[in-house]
Amino acid sequence: MPSHAFDLREPCACGSTAGRIENRNGQNCVFCVKCDDYQYNAPRTEVDRYRQSVVDQLAAFLNARLDEDAQTGRRIKATRHGTLIVAPGDGESPTVVEISGDRLLAEVEAKRRILAEHGPGSDPCDAHDAEFRTIPCTTLLLLALPYANHRDYREEWRP
Ligand SMILES: [Zn+2]
Ligand SMILES: [Zn+2]
Repeated sequence: MPSHAFDLREPCACGSTAGRIENRNGQNCVFCVKCDDYQYNAPRTEVDRYRQSVVDQLAAFLNARLDEDAQTGRRIKATRHGTLIVAPGDGESPTVVEISGDRLLAEVEAKRRILAEHGPGSDPCDAHDAEFRTIPCTTLLLLALPYANHRDYREEWRP
């Protein structure tokens, strides 16, 4: 499973300040991200903080991408017919493809509502297991996947 970094209470002996929580035999153990050394057992509050920071980071990334998509949608909507006509011209695809600004904006709105149900502050959905191994849940990870080639995307988010 992907592991997500959070700040260690104190820097590791190797100098790294990034940790990750892994559940081993029912204990939430903190490891150094860089050298993989065991650090300490994470109390519940720290696990919650970890979990929240991971979801917050992904939600911030998603919100930024959705803002960009919405901006594109509004720009297309503002054109004369409210659509963007693309002509692939490769001889095989349909001659023209029409992208509707309204459709783009509706997709952004739908994704925002999904994010609101699975994002920060929401009750954990059924996909979240007791060991926090599926935080963020697959729903959030899949929402972010279309933006995987963005420079801010983190490989640890790949479902
Ligand atoms: Zn270390
Ligand atoms: Zn969820």
